[in-house]
Amino acid sequence: MDFSEPAEATQLKSELSAFIETEIQPLEAEHERFLGPDAERHIFDDEFRQVPEYLELKATIRKRAAEADFWGMNMPESVGGRGIGTLTDAIVAEYLANQPPGLHTYAVRGAGGGPTPILLNCDDQQRDRYLEPLMAGEKTTCFALTEPDAGSDPHFLETTAEKEGDEWVIDGRKSWISNAPYADFAMVFARTSGEPGQIDGISCFLVDTDTPGLSVGDIHRPMGHAWVAPAELELENCRVGDDALLGAEGKGFFQAMEWIGNARLGVAAGCVGSAEFLLEKAVDYAEERETFGNPLVERQGISFPLAEVAMDIERTRQLYRYAAWKVEQDQDARKETAMAKLAAAKLENRAADVAMQVHGATGYSRREPIEKRYRTSRGKRLTEGSDEMQKQTIVRELRD
Ligand SMILES: Cc1cc2nc3c(=O)[nH]c(=O)nc-3n(C[C@H](O)[C@H](O)[C@H](O)COP(=O)(O)OP(=O)(O)OC[C@H]3O[C@@H](n4cnc5c(N)ncnc54)[C@H](O)[C@@H]3O)c2cc1C
Repeated sequence: MDFSEPAEATQLKSELSAFIETEIQPLEAEHERFLGPDAERHIFDDEFRQVPEYLELKATIRKRAAEADFWGMNMPESVGGRGIGTLTDAIVAEYLANQPPGLHTYAVRGAGGGPTPILLNCDDQQRDRYLEPLMAGEKTTCFALTEPDAGSDPHFLETTAEKEGDEWVIDGRKSWISNAPYADFAMVFARTSGEPGQIDGISCFLVDTDTPGLSVGDIHRPMGHAWVAPAELELENCRVGDDALLGAEGKGFFQAMEWIGNARLGVAAGCVGSAEFLLEKAVDYAEERETFGNPLVERQGISFPLAEVAMDIERTRQLYRYAAWKVEQDQDARKETAMAKLAAAKLENRAADVAMQVHGATGYSRREPIEKRYRTSRGKRLTEGSDEMQKQTIVRELRD
């Protein structure tokens, strides 16, 4: 049994570290207000739209990351990615999350608008039109699956696409779609045949966001993750050609689930990295801060929760790495991936809670990164499959 980190991951982390230092940190220094305690006030206007300067900054980061081959690096080399393995990808996610707040996460993981393996289903013409500009950082996209009445159960979606001559007419409403207000094109999932609840009969369409009939509705006001800009997408008599269909007709649900399955490991690893960051801050603070004449860390009421978070980090790290290893061995890792995502999202929530408790009022201030992680970590128990959906998967696998 070999527990050492793959050489590919160690090398990539070192390259990323140099890239962040030379290309990203100067941008952070120049745009400090987009990262500071009042970041959200500067990023958004009164209508909760991201201000042009922030959008330009994201575009600059994308271009720099694409030129350095970090943007979409988990995509295969045949489409301009680095083709890095699942385990390396996850280890990098952990590494990026275990850092002070910054713009580096956007540069590599794209916050909901970057390259996604679903687009490997593109035909030649779709590759030229969508995938290549996406890989170059020139375009962004959004993944439009969730609807107001279909979230955990997306196969009950109500959006339909009906064939009229050589056109598809799409009607429906999507909600909580990250990057919807800024995407150049959307991956829209709609029922093309079958009944609500059937997993066959859902298709994915690539729809330019300036297509008549497609519009952005309400911009949600999330508690955290505001920068991913989740919003509604409305489709009313939205007409696209046959060339908008991605991959095989009726197989969109499988494309979506494959992507979400892969994304879960990245989320799990990121939660572990963030928990490490929070733990280190809490330990440092507990050593420095004195009450009743002694450092906080000498009180078991403070130090034991830290020991428990440390233990949980270790076991959750091994769990996500084991799941990633199984994926790389072409073994079925659905159960372990669900376990890793469930455990890691809960871990980050607990680590943020413990770090805030150790910091007292200081941790409750927006000037400390703990407050933001407390908010964002909560969302991770809902997205990419909620806690309950992970448990459902685990039980299904146990019963198979
Ligand atoms: C910040 C953010 C970004 C997002 N970005 C995207 C995106 O880019 N694209 C996209 O398509 N979606 C996106 N989503 C939506 C997300 O995927 C859904 O919120 C998620 O799938 C849950 O669906 P729901 O909110 O409708 O909850 P529901 O499905 O209504 O569930 C409500 C609660 O009930 C639980 N529950 C549901 N069914 C059961 C059951 N059978 N047994 C036990 N418990 C159950 C759920 O776990 C949850 O706790 C985003 C959400 C957030 C918060």
